[in-house]
Amino acid sequence: MPNLAQEILEETNRRRTFAIISHPDAGKTTLTEKLLLFGGAIRLAGTVKGRKANRHATSDWMEIEKQRGISVTSSVLQFEYKGYKVNILDTPGHQDFSEDTYRTLTAADCAVMLIDAAKGVEVQTKKLFQVCSKRGIPIFTFINKLDRDGRDPFDLLEELEKVLGIRSYPMNWPIGMGRSLCGIYDRRKQQVELYQGADHSKIVVEKVQGYEDEKIKQIAGEHLFEQVREELELLEVAGDSFDLEKIANGQLTPVFFGSAINNFGVQTFLENFLQLAPPPAPRHSSEGMVEPSWETFSGYVFKIQANMNPAHRDRLAFVRIVSGKFTRNMTVRHVRQGKDIKLSQPQQFLAQERDITEVAYPGDIIGLFDPGIFRIGDTLVEKGSLVYDELPTFSPEIFAKLTVKNALKHKQFQKGLDQLTEEGTVQVFRTIGFEDIILGVVGQLQFEVFEYRMKHEYQVELELQRLPYQFARWITGIDADPNKFRVNSTLVTDKNGNKVALFENEYALRSAMEKMPEANFLDTAP
Ligand code: GDP
Repeated sequence: MPNLAQEILEETNRRRTFAIISHPDAGKTTLTEKLLLFGGAIRLAGTVKGRKANRHATSDWMEIEKQRGISVTSSVLQFEYKGYKVNILDTPGHQDFSEDTYRTLTAADCAVMLIDAAKGVEVQTKKLFQVCSKRGIPIFTFINKLDRDGRDPFDLLEELEKVLGIRSYPMNWPIGMGRSLCGIYDRRKQQVELYQGADHSKIVVEKVQGYEDEKIKQIAGEHLFEQVREELELLEVAGDSFDLEKIANGQLTPVFFGSAINNFGVQTFLENFLQLAPPPAPRHSSEGMVEPSWETFSGYVFKIQANMNPAHRDRLAFVRIVSGKFTRNMTVRHVRQGKDIKLSQPQQFLAQERDITEVAYPGDIIGLFDPGIFRIGDTLVEKGSLVYDELPTFSPEIFAKLTVKNALKHKQFQKGLDQLTEEGTVQVFRTIGFEDIILGVVGQLQFEVFEYRMKHEYQVELELQRLPYQFARWITGIDADPNKFRVNSTLVTDKNGNKVALFENEYALRSAMEKMPEANFLDTAP
């Protein structure tokens, strides 16, 4: 029998678990599909796209997803490439993203930030970046749509620094753009990848003796060649140097240029990325850091997804494996409930197909059928009773006052509210004194999902009245007085009784901070 510790270590080291963060339309669906194709998942060609364009045929997800043609919650795509086992945590690309998107990022070891070369850093890119940046995970940047006229590459790098506060190291550099695009020059490997235009059946990479190589001069022509030579010189002199440590802690982002739709620069990106990206990281628990190589299986629930199949009322709990080896039918401890459960029907994810998982290792995501026993953040462990640190909550930005249309349904309502908040569908606050219920979300879609599920699963009709607040801050350090939060703001409590101030605008927030210098205004729960 092979040594189990060795097996776990080897399997862990070849895994890469990441999420792609971007603003809608930057090309995430396209890039994901190309990556899957490199992984040999040829039979999946068109799957990722199809899921977006024609959900009705393939989808058995919630009605609301069908109606809107979007993915409400995210899933996981897994493939093998040159000995690596790659897990892409898929996050909704639609504008209506939700807290689930943020939570999914907490299960990733690094992120790929996808940027449209013509648009630069957009709103949603920025929000998702900040969640990753707070965790200090490595962030890799892919600047897409080089086949179109985009912004000056230096401009884009400057924007990364100004808007996101991250320095960058271009791994390759475009030779032309839009109609003049002829290739990308790999600064470290000293090779060019030639742009093949619409013919992307083959990828042509040529080894050169540095940028000055005759081959490059020939393809670029005198003028473009000179321009790029100057740009590269400028990068050497004024740009950041390549620094693995800074990449590892998220201070420096390696930047790759390319065009996903033309399959240009994608494979070289993937190969560099897999080499530089970290294997599954250890995670902090009640018993200190847990290393992936620990022989005991452990993991935590980071997302709960309801009704993937409307024929069943089941939920699916997504577990990120932190340590040990998972095998089907194993019995693990559900620490919060103090119960042992048998994991008999776990699923792993390959695009739309869901296979029964036989074994899985740290970095992998498994989906467990959930008859309503899991909460976000729950720990599962083979033996012992360690508990992983709670997942962060994210500051809601949209608020609504909730009332129940039929007061007789109170019991049902309470049950639904408890269950859905445990699943992380919405955050619940109560006003002080009146105990009015206020819901907080990061994306409008969360309200719709909440209303829909209350109606269909708990038969409770709701009325949601939008409130003008935009910011939530947890107040600590003082005994907050509701009277001090009357102007363009209000004081409420969260589910644990913490005081939270809601503000209508930045001005109201700032002036409260000035009036109460001894208070802390935290953007997540303490
Ligand atoms: P998502 O919303 O981020 O998933 O974006 P999609 O992958 O659906 O892409 C949005 C649009 O950009 C689609 O029309 C794609 O065909 C297009 N697109 C994606 N990659 C490229 C590219 O490299 N060049 C050009 N010109 N268009 C692209």
